[in-house]
Amino acid sequence: MSDNGPADETPNDSPLASWFLGPKAEHSDLWFELIAYIFEDYTHWRMNYFPNDPIVISRERRRRHDRWQDSLKTDLDSILNNLKAHFPFYSPRYIAHMLSEQTLPSVLGYFAGMLYNPNNVTDEAAPVTVRLELEVGRMVASMLGYRPQKAWAHICSGGTVATLEALWVARMVQFVPFIVRGYCAEHRLDFVIKTADGRRAPIGELSDRELIGLRPNESIFMIRKLARFEVEQIGREQTAVIGAINAFVQASEYNVKLRGCDAVIKQTGMRPLIFVSAAAHYSIKKAANILGYGEDSVRLVPVTSHFRVNTELLRSMLEHVREHEYIAAVIGIVGTTEEGAVDAIHTIAGLRDQLARARNQSFWFHIDAAWGGYIRSLFCGHSLEATAGRDLDATYALLAQRINARETISWDFVRGRPGAGAGHNRGEEIAWDNPDVYKALIAMSDADSITIDPHKLGYVPYPAGIIAFKNGLVTELMTQRARYISDASEGIKSIDDMVEIKAVGPYILEGSKSGASATSCWLAHKTIPLTVHGHGKIMRTTLLNAKKLYWHLQHHRKNFAAFEEACGFSQSPRSRFSYPFTFQPLFNPDTNIVCFVAVPMAWREARLAPTDMPLRWINELNRRIHDDLDIPQLSRGTQMPYVKEYFVSNTTFEKGQYTSQSIEPVLRSIGVSSHEYNAHGLVVLRSTVMNPLHYTAQAEGIDYLAGFVRHLHKVTRYLIVQVYRLMTEEV
Ligand SMILES: *Cc1c(COP(=O)(O)O)cnc(C)c1O
Repeated sequence: MSDNGPADETPNDSPLASWFLGPKAEHSDLWFELIAYIFEDYTHWRMNYFPNDPIVISRERRRRHDRWQDSLKTDLDSILNNLKAHFPFYSPRYIAHMLSEQTLPSVLGYFAGMLYNPNNVTDEAAPVTVRLELEVGRMVASMLGYRPQKAWAHICSGGTVATLEALWVARMVQFVPFIVRGYCAEHRLDFVIKTADGRRAPIGELSDRELIGLRPNESIFMIRKLARFEVEQIGREQTAVIGAINAFVQASEYNVKLRGCDAVIKQTGMRPLIFVSAAAHYSIKKAANILGYGEDSVRLVPVTSHFRVNTELLRSMLEHVREHEYIAAVIGIVGTTEEGAVDAIHTIAGLRDQLARARNQSFWFHIDAAWGGYIRSLFCGHSLEATAGRDLDATYALLAQRINARETISWDFVRGRPGAGAGHNRGEEIAWDNPDVYKALIAMSDADSITIDPHKLGYVPYPAGIIAFKNGLVTELMTQRARYISDASEGIKSIDDMVEIKAVGPYILEGSKSGASATSCWLAHKTIPLTVHGHGKIMRTTLLNAKKLYWHLQHHRKNFAAFEEACGFSQSPRSRFSYPFTFQPLFNPDTNIVCFVAVPMAWREARLAPTDMPLRWINELNRRIHDDLDIPQLSRGTQMPYVKEYFVSNTTFEKGQYTSQSIEPVLRSIGVSSHEYNAHGLVVLRSTVMNPLHYTAQAEGIDYLAGFVRHLHKVTRYLIVQVYRLMTEEV
């Protein structure tokens, strides 16, 4: 395969269209063939297990169940009928929530696994699929930039559980040095460790604050290092040492697992704090709640007008952590849920190094990449030996060149037919090449743990989240005693080996879990590799399509008159210019989510400028637009989706989440004062552009994104009249 694979590919020869069933079930032949094959193969497996065993349910007996089978079929019909009121997630017309098609292999893999009903808690209940799960873990860890043989990554139910598990592990790791200090005091050991600022010091000399601020890796390796120190330096016998350490760990007053979070935290007299941007998913507060830190421990750092964490404020907040507080975790987000924004992961990683050097204080760095993690597939599969040892800027430049995520689009979108642009028959370039986003994604491998959701941009069925830890040794610290599940016993087992994991149960939050998720992810990632030549093609398409939608919205104002014409409205100046409006995107998307607001405008000296419509009414307009492009809540589940040509989602920004200062440029772009924003919040339309086939459809002559904007224009044109009328009636 050529290195610059996707760059020299047109939508026509991209393999992407073969990876999905297709909006018209175009691949239904293959689909039926393989689904039938899976089901047949499975029944043969049953029949061939002791073929001589008697038939237990005879034909005659089967006939006697006819009536029950009739009722089964009737009730199944009823489910199938009712399901037709489902949202058409697979359609390029669905540009709303974080939902789309699943890849063909992921669905096939799911069915194949599901029939055998493996329970991936242990290989005793899932002899085949636990292995596949761990292989999926290595594939994803590798895509994230971790060393797959050193990392530990497994499938869980989703991003919520993944992040909870990361913080749960971090909590365990953080108190290891306290246990070791106690052990060394009891055994009078002069055990030397490395402080966060790189000095070597006997552990007994370190304060609680210094211990809690050690680099996570130092804490993770500490028990093994201690054992090795006793065996190799002191000359004690290995089994005795391991036994003594494990016994001490059990008894320690700093054992969070046994003593409880509250008791341990009281010992230190310090309060845990978690730092994350104000754009955080609510699962982080949930985790703080469940872990016993309390939601108050989550410190929301204001965002920039790009909805990325403000790293200057983060620095200042970290520097101002008080004597009786400590940093339980700093969480960076790759792809915020509402905006798809990517925090400057490289800056946060740099901040951690600076803080360690200057203040002898490190922290657990977690990344919530539930949404954006798979975008990193674009960065894999290049022969990047050339970049080894290069700096971030050089790596960025090289990757940007290799990925070459740019397209030329034509101005003819307005009328939806070729060669009829509003006097602009030239092409326009759109590109996904923001250096900050590239650098953030490159630097992801610096984090201690990463949450990533295959059931989002991995395009596999629910439930499938993944938690990846950079250092797989954390499993040793997590072992829960459960002999009936496996023989994994508490604590460390030897000083040298990395233990082979057969049962994931002892190391994770969940218990019984679906092996079908493992077969699903495995078949998907095996056949559509997590590289620029495979999954990266899907990512590249969605990123460019989001840019394209952004571009359409951004040019709406300029093309207002042309839009009017394209939507078939009268050409008379009066009707054309009665209630103009535009769609203002709130930011140039970092990934594939576009947020925008419909804003009423007025003609001033032949140009469109914002009116002074109060925000309350602008919000009303946007709420109505959203309701028009969605199934109303009351008829959800009964109304068929065919009544809607397009779908959009919405959200409301409020001062409790985003202060008016932090998003001041956003407010200015739509002509809203911070006073009004503080009073009413801002209703925002939100489009997740993740359907993989927008470009393929365009090559076949239908541009759904342009159609979406035209549809929005039509709908808004009617609704704005209603809103003006309501507003006048009120006065
Ligand atoms: C979706 C999402 C989550 C939660 O993941 P689930 O799979 O829904 O539990 C967490 N963080 C971010 C950024 C997300 O987008």
